[in-house]
Amino acid sequence: MTTSQQQFERASRRIPGGVNSPVRAFKGMGQAPVFMKRAQGPYLFDVEERRYIDYVGSWGPMITGHADPDVLEAVRSRVDDGLSFGTPTVLESDMADLICEIMPSIEMVRMVSSGTEATMSAVRLARGYTGRDRIVKFEGNYHGHVDSLLVKAGSGALTHGQPSSPGIPASLAEHTITLSYNDIEGVRECFAEMGDSIAGVIVEPVAGNMNCIPPSPGFLETLREVCDDSGAVLIFDEVMTGFRVALGGAQAHYGITPDLTCLGKIVGGGMPVGAFGGRRDIMEQISPLGPVYQAGTLAGNPLAMAAGIALLDKIREPGFHQRLGERVEQLCEGLERHAREAGIGLITQRAGGMFGVFFTDQIRVENFAAATGCDADAFRRFFTAMLTHGVYMAPSPFEAGFMSSAHEQEHIEKTLEAARTVLTEMAG
Ligand code: PLP
Repeated sequence: MTTSQQQFERASRRIPGGVNSPVRAFKGMGQAPVFMKRAQGPYLFDVEERRYIDYVGSWGPMITGHADPDVLEAVRSRVDDGLSFGTPTVLESDMADLICEIMPSIEMVRMVSSGTEATMSAVRLARGYTGRDRIVKFEGNYHGHVDSLLVKAGSGALTHGQPSSPGIPASLAEHTITLSYNDIEGVRECFAEMGDSIAGVIVEPVAGNMNCIPPSPGFLETLREVCDDSGAVLIFDEVMTGFRVALGGAQAHYGITPDLTCLGKIVGGGMPVGAFGGRRDIMEQISPLGPVYQAGTLAGNPLAMAAGIALLDKIREPGFHQRLGERVEQLCEGLERHAREAGIGLITQRAGGMFGVFFTDQIRVENFAAATGCDADAFRRFFTAMLTHGVYMAPSPFEAGFMSSAHEQEHIEKTLEAARTVLTEMAG
């Protein structure tokens, strides 16, 4: 048996930073990442067979818990038929019908292999459809590592965006405008100044990549209104929120209809899947029907479709999301109670099956500036201590937490017990 530390040293010799996606590296958490071997229900098991109650859920997909027997069976039952054909399959139509039924704003849908591909394609489509170049996004929202979307604000809100990674040409980033999340006035000003040159607005309807920040009342409504007035395409990035905040995603929860929706995570049941879809007249611009090019060798992969369909079928059960939301509420209220008793400034924010824990004395966290103003060191100490108590939270103060239906009363109670001990220790 080897330890995670040994595995991390080995991985770091051949894999940049020892990981295949940066957040897994536990950067800023002051320790090597834990290498997992298997997972079951609410639990992860590491290479040393230690067990953790998991609130990451593979960053979202595992909404019914790990190794869901129905999802596994759906994959098993297909595997002997072959892994990929590169031809249309009936399963792809089954998936398309299911998505369009669950999210009525989606009249046509194209499957891809990741959330990044979904947002990249949706942005290209918005530009192709409108014949405009500018894209509006929000600070602290993450839409995958798409060049046009890895852009931070310029020095003034309405100046040209600047690349937030080397390798992104400034000449591309300048078409991206980055505004502050939940800033209704900022949105109105931007559209008043340049609305007729904006191809689209892309937004996480609940922000889950700067911890968990729900939209303020009127924010999503304003986005809908300015897009209607200017002819820009409203893109909801529901890669994280889709099927999680409610069955029909944040758009159902908040009652706002986007023009395009990006999906990922749950839609693939744990397999590499994304999707983008929406208004028929816009989607008809996609090749081979229209001129906007988009393609994928493994898009609509049969095993991935089988896994995703099995999971979506399962979470359509009436009451599923209400129960999930109640568990999130119980966890969040318990964390706040224990923090209050320990005299530690901690608030939680939540939407359906996702939540965020902020170490702060603020009453509410509404945007990136407020999220980065929270106590990152307190979070690190909380995270590390919870891990030693067998609770695996997201290893960053800027990531949302995810609950699954496999988290039952006993798991939540165990988590809260650990939190009480940890918060009391932190206060002392
Ligand atoms: N959009 C959102 C809101 C996300 O949270 C993510 C990933 O976490 C993505 C897009 C990118 O998805 P993927 O990592 O599958 O490329």
